Amino acid sequence: MTSFDRDAILARLAALRAADAPTHGGHVLSYVYDSGIAELDELAAAAVRLVQPVNGLDPTTFTSVAVMEREVLGFARELLHGGDEVVGSVTSGGTESCLLAVKTAREAWRAAGGAGRPRIVAPVTVHAAFHKAAEYFGLDLDLVPVDARTGRLDAERLVERLVPDVALAVVSAPSYPYGSLDPVEEVAAACDEAGVDLHVDACFGGWILPFWREADGSALPPWDFRVPGVTSVSADVHKFGYAPKGASVLLQRGRDRQRLQYFATTGWPGYPVVNPTLLGSKSAGALAASWAIIQALGARGFAELADSCLRATRALGDIVGDIEGLRVVGEPTGPLLAVTADDSVAAERRVDPHRWADRARRRGWHLQLQPGLTQSDGTRLPRTTHLTITPVTHDRVDELEAALRASADDVRGEPPADGAALRAALPPLAASALDSDTAAGVLRAAGIAGDGPGLPDEQAPLLALIEALPRPVTERLLVELLARIVEPG
Ligand SMILES: *Cc1c(COP(=O)(O)O)cnc(C)c1O
Repeated sequence: MTSFDRDAILARLAALRAADAPTHGGHVLSYVYDSGIAELDELAAAAVRLVQPVNGLDPTTFTSVAVMEREVLGFARELLHGGDEVVGSVTSGGTESCLLAVKTAREAWRAAGGAGRPRIVAPVTVHAAFHKAAEYFGLDLDLVPVDARTGRLDAERLVERLVPDVALAVVSAPSYPYGSLDPVEEVAAACDEAGVDLHVDACFGGWILPFWREADGSALPPWDFRVPGVTSVSADVHKFGYAPKGASVLLQRGRDRQRLQYFATTGWPGYPVVNPTLLGSKSAGALAASWAIIQALGARGFAELADSCLRATRALGDIVGDIEGLRVVGEPTGPLLAVTADDSVAAERRVDPHRWADRARRRGWHLQLQPGLTQSDGTRLPRTTHLTITPVTHDRVDELEAALRASADDVRGEPPADGAALRAALPPLAASALDSDTAAGVLRAAGIAGDGPGLPDEQAPLLALIEALPRPVTERLLVELLARIVEPG
């Protein structure tokens, strides 16, 4: 047998991992959802290992997959108040759940006689996964402007766009950019009447909003299967279900409707294919981990972790509100804050949220920069900085507060990065004329692509450039940036 040096291989991997942003401890306020319970992570790792060789493609051969999936779906259905008519799938993540919700709605719309090109209608705050779904599955995406100050959707503005070629309306519980809980009941009533499917994207909130309360302590308005007219809900287990990446749940109302999600073929000389999800062969690892975590925590465990997130979110909301020059966007429902410059104070007292985030990163806190965006009605959504709060945040609120205050003090009054000046320094760009080498040259000229795989220390200029360049150009440049990161040297 070939011999290999196990220790050396793993030592190299450990060294690579050491350069990553920290996945535990609450210093990265996006991407990772740390329960803070080491035993839970160990349980998940052991579960992954037990199913490591299994192929999730075929639950009739690997029957453990069917049992685990059934039990995860049963727990999720109860959490989201679904009845017997609600069935679903465990998918590889939020994006896959959203893609499949769109695919199902498209098939249902066609089956009901829809012809031509269907469309999705959703607030502009809907997750980018729906942009991807529209592109992949050939639908138009009609984005409804939200209140530029609060990020809230006025239901009426969405409802008036429920024309016959709409195959699916989507609302969020809550939205990723601002944490706004969309008006699910109002939109659902109109969808029900118009015969339009309605997806509630609870990828972020699905495993935590069931335990959440409003700021005044009252219960949230219903946003899940309690609401008639809601035809599907997505909820990521790899977010506030604390599972390793690769697990989400898509629940659909109505067996016959849900079957439209499937792909099946006997039209080739190989094995008969029946796939509920996008992948063929697939890992059962994240499913097994999700299943094990659910056994361990139960509803009570999830409620306790949610409570910790709730207290930390309230505390941080108060802290940000108290920092001169910053404000929280709207009233988030769920463990996240979007922070922007407070334009009620004079410019020299304002804090640019991106410069603020860059300073916080120097102090070891990774906040997520979100660009400003002009909506179709001409109103401008401000640039923001996003903080996702997890169960480990609570014990570090004081530390984080010190970093957030000091970072604001560092940059108060500093003007935002000047996107227009950055753009003017570049040659005129048209996306269609940007081949790979030209795009790489532009990135270097803009000081964005370095030699290593990471981004520059200061991300405010990159975000300013994203805001200033035409969208197709930015998108092409970002593709180049990411593609070159993995190209063998
Ligand atoms: C995270 C998220 C998604 C996409 O999920 P991935 O797991 O990153 O693919 C979709 N919608 C919302 C609201 C999310 O927060």
